[in-house]
Amino acid sequence: MKKKAIITGIMGQDGAYLAKFLLKKNYDVYGTYRRNSNLDINRLKKLNIYNKIKLLDLEITEFASVNHTIKRILPDEIYNLAAMSFVGSSFNQPIYTLNTNTIGVLNFLETLKSTKKNISFYQASTSEMFGNFTNNAIDENTPFDPASPYGISKVTSHFLVKLYRKAFNLNCCSGILFNHESPLRGEEFVTKKIVKQLCEILKKKRNVIKIGNVYSKRDWGYAPEYVEAMWKMLQLKKKNDFVIGTGKTYTIKYFINETCRYLKIPIKWKGKGLNEYCLNKKNNKKIIVIDKKYYRPLDVYSLKSKPSRAKKILKWSYRTNLKGLIKQMCDSELKELNVKIK
Ligand code: NAP
Repeated sequence: MKKKAIITGIMGQDGAYLAKFLLKKNYDVYGTYRRNSNLDINRLKKLNIYNKIKLLDLEITEFASVNHTIKRILPDEIYNLAAMSFVGSSFNQPIYTLNTNTIGVLNFLETLKSTKKNISFYQASTSEMFGNFTNNAIDENTPFDPASPYGISKVTSHFLVKLYRKAFNLNCCSGILFNHESPLRGEEFVTKKIVKQLCEILKKKRNVIKIGNVYSKRDWGYAPEYVEAMWKMLQLKKKNDFVIGTGKTYTIKYFINETCRYLKIPIKWKGKGLNEYCLNKKNNKKIIVIDKKYYRPLDVYSLKSKPSRAKKILKWSYRTNLKGLIKQMCDSELKELNVKIK
């Protein structure tokens, strides 16, 4: 019999890639979305899977909605990817963030506690839970020190998943995923913003990019490889939490430099602090300026993973490095905008 999986947040970056991955593995894939007058089915269409998914209208902050849906479908696996996922916005919407990212998870755990079928549950934890605790490589034993309402909401749900696994024997686990990007990344996220807006400059649709702290360091991987790790975690008989990342970290400035190199835009950085900017050497015009508006009330300066548990137990390692990721994102954007590198 075909396995059934429910993915919450199917319209998001990871939801779309995971759906494609599970369909290939011959799963019946159910995807939940929150009701909206204008559904964003773009990602599912881009991956050519829109017609292969059974869509379910589910609001994760409503216990009745979660409870009813799970007990009706009785899936084998649930991947809870739905979240208010943008750190910056979580400072302006902390209550909404905690409601979605924490109460939402609790609604699933409470439902599973009273469901007879032994359903495997995956929770989308994040490197943002570690905040500024350390500049060293982070593994599953590194203490949490979240630096945003987003990080706090995810730490709380992380501990809830652990608690329900230990106290009620639920078949649940969390993947602590470091940043992962792709052509399908949301436009507010810095990698997509840089790639898209630099391509718009090439197309002469934009003059300048406004950006926040370019010295933050992140461990960036390629999203389709990360959804594979989620699936591997749920196939383990004895569930555990795993750090997933590349083990490498780069500044946002390095990401910009490498993207410009790929797009053949010759650049030069000048100035310091809020007055720092990046010139296009071809025409001496500013193409990137620092804008305080994009700074966070509290920033996370550096995140680097140590995914040795994943390597050993899941046999998972990243395959696409940062240059490969930039190439994928640029090629897709250039195609979308119908622009060529000169
Ligand atoms: P994403 O593209 O922002 O997708 C999140 C999805 O959640 C969206 O489809 C969104 O629906 C849905 N959602 C938000 N609030 C909801 C609600 N109240 N009820 C139902 N659905 C709701 O995020 P992603 O990059 O795919 O990330 C997937 C998960 O992994 C998230 O939980 C994120 O926090 C976590 N994570 C991501 C990364 C990363 O680098 N990408 C790293 C670590 C952890 P709409 O389409 O309607 O907005």
